[in-house]
Amino acid sequence: MALEVAKKSLKDPGVRMTRQRKILLDLIDQSGEHLDAERLFTLAQQKDPKLNRVTVCRTLKLLKAGGLVDELDLMHHKGDQHYYETRMKQEHAHVICLRCGRIEEFFGDPLQKMREQIEDHFGFQIVLARTEVGGYCSHCQVLRAQEMGNAAASSGRPGSRRTL
Ligand SMILES: [Zn+2]
Ligand SMILES: [Zn+2]
Repeated sequence: MALEVAKKSLKDPGVRMTRQRKILLDLIDQSGEHLDAERLFTLAQQKDPKLNRVTVCRTLKLLKAGGLVDELDLMHHKGDQHYYETRMKQEHAHVICLRCGRIEEFFGDPLQKMREQIEDHFGFQIVLARTEVGGYCSHCQVLRAQEMGNAAASSGRPGSRRTL
């Protein structure tokens, strides 16, 4: 019991974290990009060299818990990273190219409609919605077609060639 109380008082989230919180929130807010924790750590360190990874991760968690930022995985197109963006932005869907990692943001009525339909259909009260769409951008579609063409051509190597 005493340990729990001690733990609680040690947490003291408000005061100590304020400066880090502001640095990170500003970075996320101003970047207009979707930055992962590692990038944020690098940028934050330029503003305050004393910041370390643990602090940055802890601060991001805090901002997320406080409803100030959203944590996204963006289809894990680059592995396990998570990305952060401000909640101040209007709701949008993320359209992710699985080849080059380019991310587009789709804003529009259909998202709002989908929300309403879900709420009606399930009698559900939506607090938070996240829409992610994965696929290939127009640039990568061309490159993929070329790559597949090359793969088909190189599979005609003598070793793999079938005798007819
Ligand atoms: Zn692409
Ligand atoms: Zn976004």
